[in-house]
Amino acid sequence: MDLSRTAEKIIEILEMTYPDAPATYLDHSNPFEMLIVTILSARVTDAGVNKVSPTLFGRYPTPEKLGHANPIEVGKIIRPLGSYNKKAEYITKTSRMLVENFNGQVPTAMDDLITFPGVSRKTANVVLSVVFGLSEGVVVDTHVMRVTVRLGLSEHDKKPDKIERDLMALLPEEQWNDYARLIGAHGRRTCKSRRPDCPGCTLNKICPSAGLFS
Ligand code: SF4
Repeated sequence: MDLSRTAEKIIEILEMTYPDAPATYLDHSNPFEMLIVTILSARVTDAGVNKVSPTLFGRYPTPEKLGHANPIEVGKIIRPLGSYNKKAEYITKTSRMLVENFNGQVPTAMDDLITFPGVSRKTANVVLSVVFGLSEGVVVDTHVMRVTVRLGLSEHDKKPDKIERDLMALLPEEQWNDYARLIGAHGRRTCKSRRPDCPGCTLNKICPSAGLFS
């Protein structure tokens, strides 16, 4: 089986394995909140962000309110996330830019999204896929990075940009979001960082790393 066919087969199997795999593990109730929590999620777990976001949005529920907030007060709320001064600046400035440049609405173009502070291409890809169902690339987070290399779909261990390019070449565009969503679920539930459950894995017949971890 060539690698493209293998990648598509992996998606087919994982669709049956995780029919409930969510598009994101970051709690949010509108595009504005998704943009902000995605910025906050840099180098921290989604669960950590979910702990502080209810307080943040309870106090500052709109781009207008967060844009006018004192970054020091915002920093106190998001302190458990680390780099809180910088992240407070990012999200208050992003909120002001949303109001001033985009009428308070989250834009749908990659070129617009990456103008916000703290928004990388990867962050923008997450927002575009989760909020708008659009894909301008494959979201390569820590789970997608680890599992993709274990599955032999890329040799570029710990190089997310190169892994993304490999996946974009292997899969048709309409499958980029599904791949990231399903591999994210697989990485969290089965192919975990330290102890992947190879015997219980539905991919163990086609995975070149099956059994290497026992
Ligand atoms: Fe991960 Fe093991 Fe499954 Fe391969 S067989 S995807 S290494 S859990």
